Amino acid sequence: MRPRAGSKALIREINEALVLDVVRAHRPVARGRIAAETGLSPATVTGITARLLSAGLITEAEAVRTTGGRPARLLDLGTDAVLAAGVRLSNTEAYVVLVNLRGEVVASHREPLASTRPQDVGESVARAVRLATASRASSTLIGVGVAVSGVVDQQGGVVRHSGTMGWENVPFQHQLTALADTPVVLDSYVNSVASGLLLFDGRLTGRSLMIFSVGASLGASVVVQGRIHRGFSGTAGGFAHSCVGTGTGRPCHCGAEDCLETWSSQWGIQRELERRGETAASLVGRDDDVITSAAYRLGTAVANAAKLFGPERVVIAFTPEMNLAALTARTEQVFRCQYGHSATPPPDLELAVTGPSDHASGAAYTVLAQLFTASTSDAGTTGAGAAVTAD
Ligand SMILES: [Zn+2]
Repeated sequence: MRPRAGSKALIREINEALVLDVVRAHRPVARGRIAAETGLSPATVTGITARLLSAGLITEAEAVRTTGGRPARLLDLGTDAVLAAGVRLSNTEAYVVLVNLRGEVVASHREPLASTRPQDVGESVARAVRLATASRASSTLIGVGVAVSGVVDQQGGVVRHSGTMGWENVPFQHQLTALADTPVVLDSYVNSVASGLLLFDGRLTGRSLMIFSVGASLGASVVVQGRIHRGFSGTAGGFAHSCVGTGTGRPCHCGAEDCLETWSSQWGIQRELERRGETAASLVGRDDDVITSAAYRLGTAVANAAKLFGPERVVIAFTPEMNLAALTARTEQVFRCQYGHSATPPPDLELAVTGPSDHASGAAYTVLAQLFTASTSDAGTTGAGAAVTAD
């Protein structure tokens, strides 16, 4: 998208974000490097960094002596002036973290939920954010990111479907913005994790990857050349509800039957155990046909999706409860086997463990990402990739 011609305020905003993004990616960094990376003139960089310094968004770090020249003061991201809140919603609590521009968690708070009614949840989240920020009066809260398990239309601010919360088409962004009196961004658990990786793992810049989350529910994030692909109405990554059964009639909470969710999520596995008359509080140590079926369908579905999109890297992120030795090992085995007879080179596969703190901090990173030009979203961004000048 081209900026509006003559809009100096917008151009200044874009160039400030560009500078801030170079500091993020190369911190600590000299002004000369910023000019080289952005294509802005040294004088413009000096002006922009002066404004960012006075706002506390960046700080001056140590001086380094350059060859034959004066010592250059390096610039780093600020730690106190600006904070973002991230909230991880479950059906029992709102878990809030505050992060600074460097992505460091500086405070956290857990607020129990009275119910999963959207109005009640909104009030609990607003209260939790107020309590978390109470001792940070000197910092500016730039927004609240909320991570919800399920399908989230980030641009529309609507939770399309969340089995965990029992929500269908809930316009939670609008509801929470009114209660919290601050900008709100929604995203799924797995896209929140992706936002964190994109912002703070420099190896991923411009790359394509897929992240699959395996927990109470299943989810997927599709990242194309460094940006989260959201699809029509936020429905990209609807991996949990791909049909993988052959008329076995396992009912899913989405209303369909034989979704992958019914075979390979913690919810699906426990439903199957209940159907068999078992009561399993924990799945630890389990290695039987239920786990084998879960791993077979999961590994196959991940490989099928990866073959369709061709990412350089695939991450399968298990929650601590689903980080079961038999499940992870068999899933990896099935995934690799799917590439065994193919001329297609497999993507790098990483098995990871991500939990509530990753979802909450990831939600905060979705807010931080908006300050930097290298947005992690293809929704509603300026799309600026290079410095712009006034006409
Ligand atoms: Zn389903």
